[in-house]
Amino acid sequence: MAELKDLSTLEVTPYKMFIGGEWVDAVDGATLEVITPIDRNVTIATTPRAQQADADRAVEAARAAFPAWAALPFAERSKALLKCADALEAASEELAQLTALDTGNAIRTQARPEAGTLVALFRYFAGVAGEVKGVTLPSDDGTLQYTRREPLGVVAGILPWNSPLLIAAFKTPAALAAGNTIVLKAAEDAPLTILKMAEICAEHLPAGVLNVVTGYGAEIGDALVNHPGVDKLSFTGSSQIGKMVGGKATERMAHVSLELGGKSPCIVFPDSCTDEVVDQVMLATRFARQSQSCTTGSRVFLHEDIAEEFLAKMVERTRGMTVGDPRDEASDIGCIINAKQYDRVQGFIDEALAQDGVKVEYDGREDLQVGEPGFYHAPIILSQVDPSWRVAREEVFGPLLSVITWKDVDEVVEMANDSHYGLAAFVFSKNLDDALRTAHRIDSGWVQVNQGGGQIPGQSYGGMKDSGVGRESSLEGMLEGFTQIKQINVKLG
Ligand code: NAD
Repeated sequence: MAELKDLSTLEVTPYKMFIGGEWVDAVDGATLEVITPIDRNVTIATTPRAQQADADRAVEAARAAFPAWAALPFAERSKALLKCADALEAASEELAQLTALDTGNAIRTQARPEAGTLVALFRYFAGVAGEVKGVTLPSDDGTLQYTRREPLGVVAGILPWNSPLLIAAFKTPAALAAGNTIVLKAAEDAPLTILKMAEICAEHLPAGVLNVVTGYGAEIGDALVNHPGVDKLSFTGSSQIGKMVGGKATERMAHVSLELGGKSPCIVFPDSCTDEVVDQVMLATRFARQSQSCTTGSRVFLHEDIAEEFLAKMVERTRGMTVGDPRDEASDIGCIINAKQYDRVQGFIDEALAQDGVKVEYDGREDLQVGEPGFYHAPIILSQVDPSWRVAREEVFGPLLSVITWKDVDEVVEMANDSHYGLAAFVFSKNLDDALRTAHRIDSGWVQVNQGGGQIPGQSYGGMKDSGVGRESSLEGMLEGFTQIKQINVKLG
C-alpha cells in the first residue's frame, strides 16, 4: 500500500469559483473553510462564500452563453461533451482521490466508481443529444402540424455533499446536451470535486456554458432559487429543503425537479437465504458509503423462516468490513461527512437503543480501530425493530440498519409502503413471479430485483412521495427535465 500523505502537512488550497470561463472570488471577497472528514482539525481548502451578487454574475454569464450554445447543431454539443468525457476519464484517478479527501467516501468501493459514472453519463448524454426532437402530427394536405423540443434556458443545479460527482453527472451533461447552460451550486461541505470537474471540462466548452458557484445554501443557494434569470431548478438534497425550493420555484413559475431523501425497503423472501443474496443485501445497505446514500436499503424485511440464519450471515459480512481512511485501498468504509451529521446519527442510535425490545445484532463501534480526529462510524444492525419507531421511518443517512421480520406478502408490502418516502426498493426472491408482483406493488421510483446495486447510464432515476418529483439520468429525464415543447401549426398555400 502506498504511504498516505500526512494531512497536517497539506497546504490550504484557496479555490475560486468558475463563472463565465474565469476563475473568480466572491464579489465581496468572503471565503469559507473546507474541512476534510478524515481529520476534523485539518482545513484542506477555502472556497468563495458566494452571495446574491455572485448569483447575478453567474446567471448573467450562463444567460449570455445560452443563445449560441442552444443554436449549435446537436452534433457539435455532442462532440464537446465527448471531449469532456475523455478529459474526465483521463483525470478520473485524480477526481477519485479528491472525492476521498473531500467527501470521506472510500477510494476503492465508492470514489472510483463515482468518477467512472461521471464519465459514463457524459458519454451517454452526448450519444442521445440527437433525441431532442419533436413529432409531426397527422394533418391534411393544407396544413403542417409539428412540435419542437426547445431547451429551457439557464439551469441551476443544486448539489448535496454525499456523492457530488454522481449527482452532477445526473444533471450537467443532460442539461447541456439539450442546449441549456448551467450554474452548479456545489455543497458547502464537499465542493472540491465539482470545481475540479469544471476545470477539466473548461477547455472543451464555451465560456459561460458550465459555471460553478460555492457557498452556503441559505445564501447562494437561495439566491439561485429566487433568481428570475434561472429557468429551471434541478435540486438534489434533503426533503425538507427540497420542499422549500419546490415551493419558491413554483411561485415564480420556474421549472423544478427534486431528487430528495429515502427510506428504502429491502424485502427478502424465504427462498432466498443464500450467500449471493446476502452479498446483494449488503450492497443495498450502502454500508460502504457510510449509508450516506439516498437509496440506502435502511429497512431490511426478512421472512421469519430465514431471519435468524440470514442475519447471522449479514453480521459476519459486516464484521469483515474495514472502516478506515478513505484514501486507503484497504478501507471498505470511509467516514461520515461532518460533526453535525455524526451527531445526528448518534441521536438516532441512542433513541433506537432505548426502545423496549430492540435487539442489537451487531455494534461495530466495539471493533472500530479508527476514531477521532476523523468522523469514523462503524455499522450497527438492529433487529426486532418496530416499524413505527423513528429509526424505521426517518432517513438516518448513516450506517444504522433496521431489520424487521414478516410472515405474509400483503403484510410486508403494507409495511414497505407505510413510509412518506418512495425513492428506491429491493426485492429478493428466486420466484420471479413473486418478485415482480411485489416490485409492482411497492411505491418507489426504482425497484431492484435480486440485486442490491447496479445503476446503468440511461436508466430512469427519481422518487415518489416525499422523495421528489421528476426523473434524471435517463433520456426521458433529459427530455422532460431539461426541454419544453412548442407546438407549431402551419397553414400551407
Ligand atoms: P441539504 O438539503 O441540506 O442540501 C442540499 C443542497 O442544498 C446543498 O448544496 C445546500 O447548500 C443547498 N441548500 C441548503 N439550503 C438551501 C436553501 N435554503 N436554498 C437553496 N439551497 C439550499 O442536503 P444534504 O445534507 O447536502 O444532502 C443529504 C440529503 O440529500 C439526504 O436527504 C439525501 O437523501 C439527499 N440526496 C438525494 C439524492 C437523490 O437523488 N434523491 C441523492 C443524494 C442525496
